[in-house]
Amino acid sequence: ASSSDEHDVVIIGGGVAGYVAAIKAGQEGLKARLSLTTTACIEKRGALGGTCLNVGCIPSKSLLNNTHLYHQILHDTKKRGIDVGIVKLNLEQMMKAKQTSVDGLTKGIEFLFKKNSVDYVKGMGSFVNEHEVKVDLLDGGEKTLRGKNIIIATGSEATPFLGLNIDEERIVTSTGALSLKEVPKKMVVIGGGIIGLEMASVWSRLGADVTVVEFLNQIGGPGMDAEVAKQAQKILQKQGIQFLLGTKVTNGSDSGSTVSVNVEAAKGGKEQTLDADVVLVAIGRRPYTAGLGLENIGLEIDERGRLVIDQEYRTKASHIRVIGDCTFGPMLAHKAEEEAVAAIEYIKKGFGHVNYGAIPSVMYTHPEVAWVGQNEAEIKASGVKYRVGNFPFSANSRAKTNLETEGFVKLISDAETDRILGVHIIGPGAGEMIAEATLAIEYGASSEDVARTCHAHPTLAEAFKEAAMATYSKAIHF
Ligand code: FAD
Ligand code: NAD
Repeated sequence: ASSSDEHDVVIIGGGVAGYVAAIKAGQEGLKARLSLTTTACIEKRGALGGTCLNVGCIPSKSLLNNTHLYHQILHDTKKRGIDVGIVKLNLEQMMKAKQTSVDGLTKGIEFLFKKNSVDYVKGMGSFVNEHEVKVDLLDGGEKTLRGKNIIIATGSEATPFLGLNIDEERIVTSTGALSLKEVPKKMVVIGGGIIGLEMASVWSRLGADVTVVEFLNQIGGPGMDAEVAKQAQKILQKQGIQFLLGTKVTNGSDSGSTVSVNVEAAKGGKEQTLDADVVLVAIGRRPYTAGLGLENIGLEIDERGRLVIDQEYRTKASHIRVIGDCTFGPMLAHKAEEEAVAAIEYIKKGFGHVNYGAIPSVMYTHPEVAWVGQNEAEIKASGVKYRVGNFPFSANSRAKTNLETEGFVKLISDAETDRILGVHIIGPGAGEMIAEATLAIEYGASSEDVARTCHAHPTLAEAFKEAAMATYSKAIHF
């Protein structure tokens, strides 16, 4: 390769992990010196932002917000003293609004790349050897980049369901479910994890008859506290979503007009067939490393396809690091972002840090579900003595004025040290409120620290303070 193709850092993948690493590298001075551009980010999609911005977090939150508004206007205005006239869905416009948000944000990253002198290379990257990545450029031709450091940030893809051929129109992953052209009459969702429940909410609010089939006896996917999951299921059922728990899909077929899926009790036994216009496969995601040429450099992947790394994100080739969905840890955008910053700090300064014990999770249904730290079952299993403080939103004044009183805050603390071990919230604004809990855990706060911190009145966050109070004393308002 010529000298102009030589970089301090070459990043493969322009998703949250990759683009944040690129910007951080630029800021850290791993950037243009004389004519030498020293940070390059390779992305094959034709747009930056990866799954999250293009077909994940952002479009799903746009649809969740606007379908909630639509649903609320249809069903939740009268008691508030608002009489509305004819309410009509304009799905095409709703999809345009979604695209406007996506486009604005992806273009914003292109601007940040320019601002931080990051070389944006559009194409598919694959390893030639440990220091060289060949890029098949999107507009034809190829080029080889040589990196002193290389970061793999190639993300993940939906796990397919054997026997159901994804066409993204009738048998869809989340990608197709974010762009349906009409509201399906009947929708079957395979998998009651976060994707399943967020997408079930979107289409159910718009009028689809939605059934979620979940293998386990609990919805919400890994991590969600059982008590919270139970409450979430109750609320979502009340909203019209049907659930088949402890049930697995065995196979399916597409007649051209109807997609049928056969299900049976997870433990064996009762079988039934569910017919639908649209079937969403949401049984998890798996690391994406296809076409990356890993075989050319012999990097190790584990049984779940995750690239194997050490604590500093290094593969066995120590100048090649891996961050985000294609390696260990929760598949979350903010986790990818933290790792991106830490990986660049390791390269530049030799040290970095991510606290994996303080990564929040949010499910953006209505109401939202959010948690950070360990759930009760995990704490019980660890053998630590603990106390639980519960505070219902029905006793919170702001929730009362908003006429949104479903849900509660559950705070679990160490019975001996009072340190907060986990916070689990189901209720209005849970996704914002969890930031305070995350900060508390990050700083090693005790529940008394939180309970003795003055919270503004009337706010939903007072429910968090009172749940903390309830662990070692009594909540005032409940
Ligand atoms: P990705 O975002 O997948 O980015 C990887 C990029 O690498 C892709 O753009 C891909 O095209 C590119 N690439 C791959 N191989 C190559 C190659 N060889 N050469 C060049 N480019 C390559 N997380 C949250 O925290 N909050 C949410 O609300 C949320 N909502 C979600 C909703 C949905 C429907 C989905 C599917 C996911 C959601 N997630 C959410 C998860 C989040 O999207 C991921 O955790 C995040 O995108 C991971 O970032 P990443 O950079 O590791 O991978
Ligand atoms: P998930 O792992 O959260 O849930 C998948 C669910 O499918 C599990 O509950 C599992 O028991 C079930 N399942 C698996 N096989 C099944 C089968 N054959 N029949 C019935 N049920 C089956 O995965 P997901 O919901 O697909 O999400 C993928 C990733 O994307 C997750 O890591 C998630 O954190 C991330 N994500 C995050 C957000 C968010 O943060 N708001 C939103 C969407 C996606």
